[in-house]
This record gives sequence, C-alpha cells and structure tokens, in this order.
Amino acid sequence: MVNSYFEEKAEKLLIDADCFRVPVDINKCAAYLNVKVEGLTLEDNVSGFFINKDNSLLIGYNVNESPRRKNFTIAHELAHYVLHAKDSPLFIDKNNYKLYRDTNSSSGEIIKEIEANAFAAALLMPKKLITEKMDSLSEENKNSLIKTLANFFVVSPQAMGIRLVNLGIIDYY
Ligand SMILES: [Zn+2]
Repeated sequence: MVNSYFEEKAEKLLIDADCFRVPVDINKCAAYLNVKVEGLTLEDNVSGFFINKDNSLLIGYNVNESPRRKNFTIAHELAHYVLHAKDSPLFIDKNNYKLYRDTNSSSGEIIKEIEANAFAAALLMPKKLITEKMDSLSEENKNSLIKTLANFFVVSPQAMGIRLVNLGIIDYY
C-alpha cells in the first residue's frame, strides 16, 4: 500500500527537476530545491541529517555508507525538507535499527520517519519507472527481479523488495 499524496508529490518533483528517469539522480533533485548535499565523516550510527540554518539548506550524509545507502539517505533527508521543514530546522538520522529501539522517540517523530521513508521510496523508485522497466525484463523469479531492479535503480535489494510489496507488484518479501 502506498500513500497516493506522496506518490504524486514525488513524481511531480522529479518531473519538475528533470529527474524522472532511471536511475533517479537524487543529487540533481536536491540541487533543484536549492539544497546543498555534502558527504561528511559522521558518527558510525548516523546516516545523515538535514539542517535549515538561516534559509541555507544542507543535507549531510555519512561518506562511509555504500552508494545505495547514500542515495536513500539523501532522498530521506530531502523528504524531511519537503514534508517536515516547517516543523523543525534540524533532523538527524541514526540507522533504523537504533531509531526504532529509541524509547525516547515520541510517536510524532516515528511518524515523520515513516513518512520520510515512504517519500524517499517514491522519489527513488517511482511506480511508473518500475513498471516501464519491468516491461523490458523477463526475470523468472522474485529474487532475480528484485536484484535486477535494485541494480537499475541503485538502491538496496531490501529497499526494492519492500517497495515492490508496497506497490502490490509482489505479494511478500
Ligand atoms: Zn529521518
């Protein structure tokens, strides 16, 4: 199941930014929104952050992450900007494992994280581009389909597997 508001908003942003193709160039999309993106040496458990300081917008990502994780982190931080910047000038993201074990997180924060992940998935793996790509593929099983699409879209197989379930393309992952 996907949030159609996020899906439409993400697709419009990609089209406006001239990024609606495979793989999505998330850095170009950030540049379109005047958000600077920098790779930084961050603590091991921090994947990235978004900060709005005096209307200067910056996304930092952990340089030690793989290109696929990095893409998702930038998309996730961009989602915080698009969806949540009015609520807070700063978002710091630790890896998800830590996030969901953090008992100090209020439910409001967890909802924002779920929303940012959903919007990031819509940005990096637009439904139309996935179905177009699938038309040209002849993968025989679910795992090879996930792996092949993950390679095309430069995301982790896990992210692609979850996305395909949410889009109703596969029944489980
Ligand atoms: Zn976040």
